[in-house]
Formats: sequence, C-alpha cells, structure tokens
Amino acid sequence: MTPIQALDTPHSSAYSCACCNPNNLSTGPSRRGFLGLGAAALTGGLLAMSPGQSQAASGNYEAMLLNCIDPRFTTLSWQYMGLLHGIARDKLNDNYSQFVIAGGPIGAVHPKFAAWHNTFWENLDISVSLHHIPRVVALTHRDCGAAKLAFGEAKVATKEDETHAHAEALMAFRAAVSKRQPKLSVITGIMDLNGKVDLIG
Ligand SMILES: [Zn+2]
Repeated sequence: MTPIQALDTPHSSAYSCACCNPNNLSTGPSRRGFLGLGAAALTGGLLAMSPGQSQAASGNYEAMLLNCIDPRFTTLSWQYMGLLHGIARDKLNDNYSQFVIAGGPIGAVHPKFAAWHNTFWENLDISVSLHHIPRVVALTHRDCGAAKLAFGEAKVATKEDETHAHAEALMAFRAAVSKRQPKLSVITGIMDLNGKVDLIG
C-alpha cells in the first residue's frame, strides 16, 4: 500500500473523466474524490466558483484552446478567451475545452515533437464530437522554450525571426486542421508576455 498504489486505485477501477464518457451526464462530487481527504470541502468550493460544473459532458461549447505549458500564460490565455469572444469572462468559464502542450500548436505539428501529434489530434476529434465546438484557438507565445528547441535558438533570435518561425508552424497547423476537421474555424496567434496577441493567418 504505497502512496502510488493508493492514487492509482480510482483510475484503474471506476474513475472516469467527464470529457471521455458521453454517458456521464452528471459530474458529481464522487467523480472528483481522487484526492480522498478534503475532497468534499474542495469540491464544494469549486462548485460555488464554477457554474459550468453542472453542465453536461456533451453539449454545445465555444471552442478548444490549444496553448503552451509555460506557466506565465495561464491567466493571460484565459483572459484572452474572454476578450476574443466579446462576452463576459464568467460566461466563457467552462465553455471551452483546453489542450495544453509544450509549444502549443508548435507541439502539435513540428517534427521535433512527432510523438505528441496524434494525442492532440485525437483529443481535438473528441472535443468536436462531444462538445460540438465550432472553432479552435491555437496560441504560441514569445520567448517559448519549446519553440527554441524546435526551431533552434538562432531561428528565433529576433522578434522578426520569431514571428516568421512561429507563423510557419501556425500555417501548418491551420492546414492540418482543415484537412482533419474541415468544418472548424481556426484562430492562430502569437501571445506576447503582456498578453497581447498578434494574429497570424
Ligand atoms: Zn512555450
């Protein structure tokens, strides 16, 4: 009974997340009891903060956001989604799915990260079929460590070079979406460290 075994137990038996089970129309507290102690209090707090928790696992949602794991952009990307759709942020809360991967769209298309690609595209398929999303929002960002790995430091040394390299990946991403999910509209851009986005394509 190591701590690892204790954590694994719910996943290997009855655990199921809302996004992967279309029959699971109720996301009650029992589904979120994975941490055991304190789960009831934590769930109560989340429910109070997020009205979307009571929505169905399948339904009509606004978008999928694809962005980088860089911690500096967690809040900025959430804020951008609110601005993008021109509606109050609290209404967009829990109204889009999110896939977070190093480099964001660069991680989904660049050959350096080929082992990750299928995971993203299959997740996009699931979000289309379950959440009926009409669009995908794919953001890279300035000073991205994953982009430096993919392109090489020299290719992103200046802002102009960085824009050029990211734009190439973003255009490849747009092409891949139109091939895989032709009905989706695509928004692609590069987010600055202050949250401003330069749209590409
Ligand atoms: Zn990054």
